[in-house]
Amino acid sequence: MPSPTAAGNCQRVGRTTEARRKLTSEKCRIVRVTRELAWFLAAPLRCDLKTGAMYKYYDNWREQEFDCPKCKWHGPGSALSLGDYNWDCAERVCPVCEELITVVLHPTIAESRANWDKVSEWDRRNIEAAEAHRAEFARRKLREPTQLPEITEPSFVLHWDFVEDGSHKETLIKHGEDVVFAEPAFYEGYKRFIEVAEILRSRYEAALRDLIPTKASELYLYGDALGSPAIISAARERIFRSAAERHA
Ligand SMILES: [Zn+2]
Repeated sequence: MPSPTAAGNCQRVGRTTEARRKLTSEKCRIVRVTRELAWFLAAPLRCDLKTGAMYKYYDNWREQEFDCPKCKWHGPGSALSLGDYNWDCAERVCPVCEELITVVLHPTIAESRANWDKVSEWDRRNIEAAEAHRAEFARRKLREPTQLPEITEPSFVLHWDFVEDGSHKETLIKHGEDVVFAEPAFYEGYKRFIEVAEILRSRYEAALRDLIPTKASELYLYGDALGSPAIISAARERIFRSAAERHA
């Protein structure tokens, strides 16, 4: 779990590599328009500001006047700078000294649809893209073991791979060079990894010894969530190793 900040659990954004910067800006773009895109993560993060108000995205916080307790800056919410953010909310900070002033929740798709006249053309396109992505995922996702082909080897591993073609990103489940299943990929999709591993496990039982993330998949799978590699390791241990031992 990311470490809590003044705004509750808003995580700091890693800025370590060029590739990560690219992903971070992509995430920022998505996060700005909707938190429902991450619904499948059932994110445990909550934005609970310890003091002061928290606003919904379409509340009138842009017109309200704010005072900075640190440097005495005074001005409207629209002048505040964007601070740290997570899937649920973003900090708005003092434009002079970056002191935390308030926290604004990202809009849900329903809130954006209800305030469509206030949504910019650019955001509308992103919301429509997010809705299309959700619909495609719902249509194509792995739901049950019967969607998976038979593999006759008595013992094997599968790989969790990732391919990208422009804005189209896919998770591939591979047995050697064969693609066993493909579905749309999600940024920080580590909870989805666990769901898929459980379905694979029930299809192939003890013959499946592991689901291994490829190097190519790691950046998109783990994202900026610091705990995600450990979560995946623990899940693989639980689903595959202990099962293999039970059948040994
Ligand atoms: Zn200030």
